[in-house]
Amino acid sequence: MIKNKKEGQLIIISGPSGVGKDSVCKKLKELKENIWISVSSTTREIRENEIEGEDYYFIAKEEFEEKIKNNSFLEYAIVHSNQYYGTLKDKVYEKLNGGVDVILVIDINGALQIKEKVKDAIFIFILPPSMNELKRRLVNRKTESDDKITERFKTAYREINEISKYNYVVVNDNIEDAAKKIDAILISEKCRVDRIMEVDLNTIEEEIHEKLVD
Ligand code: 5GP
Repeated sequence: MIKNKKEGQLIIISGPSGVGKDSVCKKLKELKENIWISVSSTTREIRENEIEGEDYYFIAKEEFEEKIKNNSFLEYAIVHSNQYYGTLKDKVYEKLNGGVDVILVIDINGALQIKEKVKDAIFIFILPPSMNELKRRLVNRKTESDDKITERFKTAYREINEISKYNYVVVNDNIEDAAKKIDAILISEKCRVDRIMEVDLNTIEEEIHEKLVD
């Protein structure tokens, strides 16, 4: 009687550095089947605890620029004033066409590019419980120098100013609660009328008629 669209949903998650986007996404992956978190390419240096191909594809600036020329990116941006970050097209479309939901954890500039290209993408912004808490998390992470922390904090203020471009906001005061809220958003999105491809009114009418006759 009713058919849902077969393609997966494209979900964009943004939020300031240190807000816990990656931890929330990992938790979401435990709660949900059929969801894939895209691995971005970047020119920034690999951190001690990171794994090539799992956290990012760490590539040289020249290689990144070659891929821009070849139109290989679905979106890309210069984040924190000097490093490229981008999402490769092919894998994302392969997953979406196979019915898998895809999460992109990207900045506001990338999110705005996706808004132009993919009409039914879902935009979620993750906020910290407070800016003091965000600063505490960034400092405790011990992955950046003081200068870089200040830079990331400035970017955070700029990004939060753009929150109205997103469809949903989730406060990450607890990783599991934040992941559950995103899960609920995705479940609701699947029920949207415009995600339903085909409603066979004749069959519905027949069913109503049968019930009335009963
Ligand atoms: P980090 O250097 O802390 O791993 O990431 C910095 C920021 O880069 C993240 O907060 C995220 O929003 C952004 N980012 C990561 N991957 C991508 C990407 O593929 N495209 C864009 N536009 N931004 C990204």
